[in-house]
Amino acid sequence: MASDSSPPPKSFNLAIIGGGISGLTLAIALHTRNIPITVYESAASFGEIGAGVGFEANFVRTMDLIAPGIKEGFLRCSKNQESVPPKWFDVRVGDTRRADGEGVVHEKGGRKIKLGEPIFTMPARAGPRGGVHRAHFLDELIKLLPQGIALFKKKLVDVSEGEGGDAVLHFADGTTAQHTAVIGCDGIKSRTREIVLGLEDARPVFSGKYAYRAIVPMQKALEFLDEEEATTPQMYCGYKGHVLTFPIANGTIFNVVAFSSRSEWTDPEWVVKTSREDMLADYADWTEKVKCIMANVKNPDIWALYNHVPASTFYQARPRICLLGDAAHATTPHQGSGAGMCIEDCYVLGELLGEISSADELEKVFRAYDAVRRPRALKLVETSRQAGMLWEFEGPGGDDLDAFEKDAISRMSWIWDHKIERDLERARELLRA
Ligand SMILES: Cc1cc2nc3c(=O)[nH]c(=O)nc-3n(C[C@H](O)[C@H](O)[C@H](O)COP(=O)(O)OP(=O)(O)OC[C@H]3O[C@@H](n4cnc5c(N)ncnc54)[C@H](O)[C@@H]3O)c2cc1C
Repeated sequence: MASDSSPPPKSFNLAIIGGGISGLTLAIALHTRNIPITVYESAASFGEIGAGVGFEANFVRTMDLIAPGIKEGFLRCSKNQESVPPKWFDVRVGDTRRADGEGVVHEKGGRKIKLGEPIFTMPARAGPRGGVHRAHFLDELIKLLPQGIALFKKKLVDVSEGEGGDAVLHFADGTTAQHTAVIGCDGIKSRTREIVLGLEDARPVFSGKYAYRAIVPMQKALEFLDEEEATTPQMYCGYKGHVLTFPIANGTIFNVVAFSSRSEWTDPEWVVKTSREDMLADYADWTEKVKCIMANVKNPDIWALYNHVPASTFYQARPRICLLGDAAHATTPHQGSGAGMCIEDCYVLGELLGEISSADELEKVFRAYDAVRRPRALKLVETSRQAGMLWEFEGPGGDDLDAFEKDAISRMSWIWDHKIERDLERARELLRA
């Protein structure tokens, strides 16, 4: 919640570019703190793709700190997902090439573990958490905003400087708008990022991985998987690929994200149609169960996975522009925390903006936000890249499953055990300095 129940009246008004998870969460944070805002979205309406997204307990707690309504909305989309003890994923080997002639992939405590059997469980942290259907969660965010706060079909093409460092926004439809500052929440292909960093440094790079995504009715998944595998999060690992499944939509939908690798991506489109045959060929050496999961991916698309190289800054002073969420630090999804980082950004920036009253203080806010958020968000991009390799036996230990387990069990602590309030405290100190 806002640190002060009656925040100072503002002599500034802000433009939020983009109405995804970042833009809408920030809009809620700022609206709750009586900060005048307008959201500009290039699409004709708010919308998210039909796929899942997971939030771990620390991120759900941060939602509550921004506005309890966000957490309540999340909980309405994420029922029936409790596991005791909390589980992030069961890890199994799904690639037959990792097995010996008897199908054994690992020996642990004198026990032989076969292909497809759980090798270990990556524990999660306690507290409300889990997967949601993206569109359902976005709908919950939209409910928390007043009508008229967003303008649609407003594709930002440029920002020029107006009086006193103000930002003049130029849209593709030829119109303009003037605001004291712009918060760029326009995602991985961000125009605001290009303006702040320059075209070359803003450009996303192909990560070497791509994904197939599908949602399957849970009833259907229960026809080919046992209850544990269908209704709780699972990771099937292999060479050059891994397959994640987890429940979303209050346990009614089985969400699939299946990864594979290629050295380069040349198509200008990042989501392209492919044939079922080509998709199934990626998993030709995998277990029957994994093949069965993939056979349920209807009308497959390939999603090329890009990420940003580290940004040297998340803001500029004239005209005032600050980057947030994927626009600032788009990552691969291998630690399931990209959207969680967007939520953390919104908390810190929202609180800081709530504490100032004049346009002159905006630059100090952006500087403090940049100082605390940039190192953590950029660390995610790098460690996520490493995680993508680990899940596909390309980590330092290769396909040694003991080394894999040791790395996997420890690698999420810095993300999940982080005290975001401390970041805010530090940012406040910088703001007051
Ligand atoms: C396969 C996959 C799985 C993932 N799984 C997870 C997960 O489990 N957990 C997790 O935490 N994260 C996950 N992520 C990451 C997460 O999806 C993103 O971090 C998050 O959705 C980014 O939200 P955003 O609002 O910053 O950007 P976006 O969702 O990209 O929203 C940007 C918005 O800006 C609009 N826009 C763009 N350009 C302009 C413009 N010029 N003018 C006006 N509007 C514009 C767009 O239309 C869009 O509405 C995953 C990502 C992928 C690819």
